[in-house]
Amino acid sequence: CGIVGYVGPRDSQAILLSGLARLEYRGYDSAGIAVIDGEGDLEMRKRAGKLQVLRDDLTAHPMVDGTTGIGHTRWATHGGPTDANAHPHLADDDKLAVIHNGIIENFAELKDELLAGGFTFRSETDTEVAAVLLGREYAASGDLVAAFRHVAARLEGAFTLLAMHQDQPGLVVGARRNSPLVIGLGEGENFLGSDVAAFVEHTRNALAIGQDQIVAITPQGVEVTDFDGNSVEVEPFEVVWDA
Ligand code: GLU
Repeated sequence: CGIVGYVGPRDSQAILLSGLARLEYRGYDSAGIAVIDGEGDLEMRKRAGKLQVLRDDLTAHPMVDGTTGIGHTRWATHGGPTDANAHPHLADDDKLAVIHNGIIENFAELKDELLAGGFTFRSETDTEVAAVLLGREYAASGDLVAAFRHVAARLEGAFTLLAMHQDQPGLVVGARRNSPLVIGLGEGENFLGSDVAAFVEHTRNALAIGQDQIVAITPQGVEVTDFDGNSVEVEPFEVVWDA
């Protein structure tokens, strides 16, 4: 339901949590974040309930500081509002994390393909299918952006998807089809959001991503392509916001 991504020099946890708080107005039943630290460890925490439940959990059991991170508030469509069904979802090797807004219409068919290939699942969501599929593609190519492109092109329905891999710190990849995704441009840091509220407290410089496009953000820049890998022009705009 709500999505935020961050790459830059700062600890991402506070940025993710305050971005999610600004997206709370959309309604949600669960919340979660994942971060990658300087050592290339990926850690994730996700809880059914209000953002405060997640915050309390993080206070009681702190995670590593990480300067690359993704955060999600969920409005359940496939699988009830439980901790296991909350996002992020991990690929089978726990090295790659995915968050998703929307519905993957062909998830059952993709899940059958993965089950036949020996992959197992830890949730009832459509989203986990994208995470496991992306893990398989990344393991084959070692190229997160190319793997993400192949996966996005196979998904039907509506999705805003963000992914990051612990072997690629400083990189968050996003894709969209029939669901919104915007880029926030900072100084030595960049953001992704399901809407500008996710990053408006950090930057007013934004880029709109078009239908069926992929974006890769690093602290130094952003690169947008279509699902075939062709570069595309993106439209800059300034966020108008009355605090
Ligand atoms: N379909 C996904 C799920 O049920 C994502 C829902 C959302 O947009 O929050 O987990």
